[in-house]
Amino acid sequence: MLTVEDALDAMLSRVPVVGTERVEVLAALGRVLAEPVVSRREIPPWPNSSMDGYAVRAEDTGRGAALAVVGRVEAGALPARAVGRGEAMRIFTGAPLPEGADTVVPQEDVDATDGRVVLHGATEHAAYVRPRGEDVRVGDRVLEPGTVLSAAEIGLLATLGYGRVSVYRRPRVAILSTGNELADLGTEPGPGQIPNTNSYTLMAQVLEAGADPVNLGVARDQLEAIETRVRAARTADVLVSSAGVSVGELDLVRDALMRAGAELHLWKVSMRPGKPITFGSLGPRPVWGLPGNPVSAMVTFELFVRPALLKMTGRRRLQRPRIRARALEPVPNPGSRRGYLRVQLEATGDGLGARLTGEQGSAILRSMVAADGLAVVPPDTVVPIGDQLEVIQLRELPS
Ligand code: AMP
Ligand code: MG
Repeated sequence: MLTVEDALDAMLSRVPVVGTERVEVLAALGRVLAEPVVSRREIPPWPNSSMDGYAVRAEDTGRGAALAVVGRVEAGALPARAVGRGEAMRIFTGAPLPEGADTVVPQEDVDATDGRVVLHGATEHAAYVRPRGEDVRVGDRVLEPGTVLSAAEIGLLATLGYGRVSVYRRPRVAILSTGNELADLGTEPGPGQIPNTNSYTLMAQVLEAGADPVNLGVARDQLEAIETRVRAARTADVLVSSAGVSVGELDLVRDALMRAGAELHLWKVSMRPGKPITFGSLGPRPVWGLPGNPVSAMVTFELFVRPALLKMTGRRRLQRPRIRARALEPVPNPGSRRGYLRVQLEATGDGLGARLTGEQGSAILRSMVAADGLAVVPPDTVVPIGDQLEVIQLRELPS
């Protein structure tokens, strides 16, 4: 059976990067930049004051020096004249430094009387002056393609006059649930029915990965019904279905995918939960058939679909952080498959500790609600109390 690593490599090698689009700068938050950003501006555009005070020549400063105040310049205005020897100009934070001046004396370091200031001491040359181009020079390449845009980058783009910017498109991800037993949200489950969970966890996971879900609803366990929905996924970039991928008589997803023209590349990965996962291509579209149990669907999405969607959106870093935590209780993984066990993390005296979120059945969604991460445990192992666990971090760390 395939290892998780080999399965992921096989999937990623078949996942295309989506195209780009130009969006308004704020809409680019969290997206991946698709063009280099080169500055057309000097930031700041001219030398300016970082304090409220007096623009002077440094050589004129000293204890008891008296300077004539020859004008005033506020932020948003230009100085009406230059500053000469023995002169000072009232200046405010952000205002352009007048010609002739090279230094600002903060207002708290002078005694001001009508038309004059007397300085308390010498001021170092260029003090409290922000030079032209101190932050950005014309021609500076300030952002590289592939940068994930956060608030600081959005601010920099605005500073440089970029109203719109080129980013990778959000992939559209069709989500299909399959199963005769499923009652969708809005209908009360009848006898023998269970609520459709997977469509909603998966659509939420799609959004969390920076992509847009397209809800294809629920298909009955019937070849034509599934095939029709699969064909509808041609309006999307990706198809993710859940359930119906095991070996049972009613596990028809693989057949339906092939009938709709998909080529299947792999089936079954050595992991617990999630073994029966299927991956293929429907034309250029990657297609996943995830297992049906809610935790299996979530975990396989985490390990395979999420990195693929991140690759599609131009990201370079595809993996969640992995951290180490000490087992606070024995962590067993019986059987021949690698375990991905739901754990809760807590801060201990020395680093982090991890304990299981309770019963690890793959239908127990509340064990996922309580999970801060997935502990990666080799087959046929019981990790004893105090040993280190490798944990895929899903939530913020506790402090
Ligand atoms: P299957 O692989 O079709 O046998 O499904 C495995 C288990 O997952 C069964 O117990 C199903 O009832 C359950 N299941 C399948 N799809 C969903 C879904 N969309 N929401 C919740 N449970 C599901
Ligand atoms: Mg089923």
